[in-house]
Formats: sequence, structure tokens, C-alpha cells
Amino acid sequence: MSDTQFPIPADADTRRAVPPVICYPNETLPKPDLALYRAARDGAEKVAEVTVPPREAATFEVTAGQFFRISSIEGPQVGDLNLWNRNDISERFFSGKTRALHGTHVTTGERLWSNLPYMRPMATIIADTLEWYGIDAYGGSVHDVIGTRCDPYTGNLLQGSQYHHCCHSNLTRALADHLGLSLAEAEPHVHDVLNVFMCTGFTRDTGQYFMKASPVRPGDYLEFFAEIDLLGAMSACPGGDCSAEHSSDTAACYPMLVEVFAPKEGSLAAWQSPALNGYDRSHGC
Ligand SMILES: [Zn+2]
Repeated sequence: MSDTQFPIPADADTRRAVPPVICYPNETLPKPDLALYRAARDGAEKVAEVTVPPREAATFEVTAGQFFRISSIEGPQVGDLNLWNRNDISERFFSGKTRALHGTHVTTGERLWSNLPYMRPMATIIADTLEWYGIDAYGGSVHDVIGTRCDPYTGNLLQGSQYHHCCHSNLTRALADHLGLSLAEAEPHVHDVLNVFMCTGFTRDTGQYFMKASPVRPGDYLEFFAEIDLLGAMSACPGGDCSAEHSSDTAACYPMLVEVFAPKEGSLAAWQSPALNGYDRSHGC
């Protein structure tokens, strides 16, 4: 940044001092009825659970109107979450637009949105035991939608490595197993993740993506309401708590737990699964 190719304009400081404007003021977003969701959750019963082994991924299915909880169980561990519409996996979680709408990190009351042209809420966060964390002195926070997922291609680019338990590969194997697809068929469906429990930010001086030891402890959880029928895949990242490195077998890694809960019949009578986005798709023609 110091050796600039072009001269610094005389009014540079004035231009830098212009206050920012929020790109997507989100006051007009449809508000989730958290009170209704929580009341339904109170009477819900567990219908499924899966333990995600360290450095592996596992899949789970959630029907619209059910809940799923992702928990830290044995030690600090971050996880990479992919979500698809269970009935059509071309609709999937859109990390970029979720970030544009809600910010770099998500918490209670915020939603995970699907890709274009579907663009509707897939899941709503109803509980987050780490919501106390806020934004730390480094600009770090938890549950980010700014990272992508650790992957073997970046490792190969930077270190020349051939590592097979990055979240990208874990998610690819898990999705292939679940749907009976080849790895080559499954891989393009793996997408940018919600980094559950991961503590990240951008450095103020260089703007680089950073991670630091997750504040998560066994017993912490992030819980969602499924707005549509979901297929989920959760990878217990080889980075463990992501305090030092990922993309290797060096870090201490722990399993994670995913539990699915079904509400009592009739407890969501006032609720409807969100429709597809209302844009008419004529694109001006
Ligand atoms: Zn990872």
C-alpha cells in the first residue's frame, strides 16, 4: 500500500473521511417470529442425531418446521456447514448474500439465505450460546460467513501439499455418500460455508482474513429453525479450534454433535415455509 503507482490527490484525506453507508439496510427484511419458533421448540422432541468425527463430515436431514442444533461436545472445535434444499440441491446456502444482508458473522435472529434465483431463508438462528462474544479488540467474531472452507487446492497452491481431510474434501465425501454420487459429481455442489464457532475477522492494517482460537467450549451450541426441507453436511475442521493451522493433521480435533428436533403437531399452525423469491426473472426482456 505504501508504494503507490499514482500520485496521492490533494484531497485524499477528505475523500477518505466520507462516512460509510450501509449497502443493504435490512429493516425491510421479513422478520422471523422468534417467539413462535421458541414456543414450538419448547415442546419439541429429538428425532435424530449424528456425531461428526474429527477431520470428517457427516450429513443430516431436517424437515421444514423442525430444528437442528450443532454442539461442541468434547473440546473446542470449529465446523464448516453446508446446506441444500433436500428436494433440489441446486438451491443451496449463499454465504456471500447472507454476509451482505446480515454482516460478517451471524447470530440469533439472523438467517441463512439461499442462492439466486431462489433467494429465500433456508434456516433461522434461534439460539447461540456464544452471542456474548460480540466483536473483540481485533475485529474478530464467531460464526463467520467470510471464509470459504479449507480446501486442498489452496493448500496445494501455497504449500504444494496433497491433504485429503480439509472441510472441502470432507463435505464432498459426505455428500457423495449421502446421495450415491461419485466424488466428481458431488464436488461442484459443495459451497462456501457457515463457519460454526470459528473466530475470524479481517486485519485492520492489511485487510487479511485471520482466525484465532475459538471461544467455544463443550456445551456451547448454535441452533436453527429449518425454513425449508434441508440436507445438511457438517465438517469437523482439521484446524480444531483454529488457533494455529488447518489443512494438516497437526491440530487437536474433536467430534461435534448435530441433533434434530421435531415440534409437537400443530405448534406451528401460524407458520408457512417461505416461498421462492418474488422477482419475476424477466431481466428486463
Ligand atoms: Zn476446515
